[in-house]
Amino acid sequence: MTQQSDVKEAATGAANGTGAASLTEAGGASALFPSYARYPIQLVKGKGSLLWDAKGKQYLDFMSGLAVANLGHAPEKVAAKVKAQLDELWHVSNLFHIPQQEVAARKLTEVSCADAVFFCNSGAEANEAAIKLARRYHQKIKNNGRYEIITFEHSFHGRTLATLTATGQQKVKDGFLPLPAGFVTVPLYDMEALKAAIGPQTAGIMLEMVQAEGGVYPVEPAFVEELAAICEQQELLLIVDEVQTGMGRTGKWFAHQHYGIEPDIFTSAKGIASGLPAGAMLAKEYLREAFSPGSHASTFGGNPVVSTAIIATLETMEEEHIPEQVAEQGNYLKAVLQETFKDEPFVQEVRGLGLLIGIECVAPVGEIVLLGQERGLLFVTAGPNVIRLLPNLKVTKEEIDQAVAILAEIIAAHISGKGN
Ligand code: PLP
Repeated sequence: MTQQSDVKEAATGAANGTGAASLTEAGGASALFPSYARYPIQLVKGKGSLLWDAKGKQYLDFMSGLAVANLGHAPEKVAAKVKAQLDELWHVSNLFHIPQQEVAARKLTEVSCADAVFFCNSGAEANEAAIKLARRYHQKIKNNGRYEIITFEHSFHGRTLATLTATGQQKVKDGFLPLPAGFVTVPLYDMEALKAAIGPQTAGIMLEMVQAEGGVYPVEPAFVEELAAICEQQELLLIVDEVQTGMGRTGKWFAHQHYGIEPDIFTSAKGIASGLPAGAMLAKEYLREAFSPGSHASTFGGNPVVSTAIIATLETMEEEHIPEQVAEQGNYLKAVLQETFKDEPFVQEVRGLGLLIGIECVAPVGEIVLLGQERGLLFVTAGPNVIRLLPNLKVTKEEIDQAVAILAEIIAAHISGKGN
């Protein structure tokens, strides 16, 4: 396989999580597992919306480390607070009170409908905690033995055994059998299938408000309303996975706030600590006692450094009115894209919520990602035909104009064949 076709495979593989890339950027043998299809770029420095590679080339970042660097790269306030904390204390076991964790949790409950928070280290771990809490609530508080979680096709909930089982995409399950029991997946919007799946064993229903990895599809409000009503009638827990949508990305603190619902449980991760590894599982008051002492734990979860980063992230978001700003910039980005591509048959649809935008194309877009990298614009895909844009939440209109101009240029080059 040539170097170039390696790169192309990496582009497609990055979209679907497959592909072999066991070479280092320099082409030497790697000591790493080849589980990531990596682009041949080494990013070494970042500031705001910009990144630089080891060769000094500059990139405009419209992927934010997959919705993680939400305040831009190296945000000053977060960096200053984390540096100060690093001089004081890095880690303390959760066997002790951690004041920074208390503050971070309190702040999260102030911007959402949640009353109790459990901190962990990633999105998958937050979703695991949500699944465990749902089971434990039914089994220990309600004493009804319920355990099953219903999820939806095309969803993505993580890569641990439980969360990949919950995920409604076959590709993440291949070769990992047997999968844990207690999950059933139904087609999104198929109310009859959903109702048929509900039984005496059902503990809850879990969904994303915007199916992000699945193609950037915001879920229809009427469906969410009906789903919430079913959960209430049948005493099922409504669990919302906000790992990608949480913390401002969609123009509200959490995407479910667009829908006027209050989930029993929801999760967040990715941008919650501006790039330090953190996740959170948030729930309503009546679920608090289900996680009694000793029932669930995480060594690193909410340690002083990470909690400090979460607090500084939340403070910055409040002070700078980030969710409101995202709503405005998201509308602007969508409008500019729609105007730019209105007569371009290669582009079928521009959709999304806030600064989580999908551009559905009529053919695979893996090569367009590579052309973007050549032209200094970073973005990702969401399935084979969808370009996914995830700029940081402080992106400016000038940066949006610049990114869209590059996109228009590379899509034109791709169509005319010059990009190949
Ligand atoms: N849930 C959603 C909606 C996600 O987008 C992701 C990651 O992309 C996850 C869960 C898993 O998060 P992590 O990779 O931090 O485990």
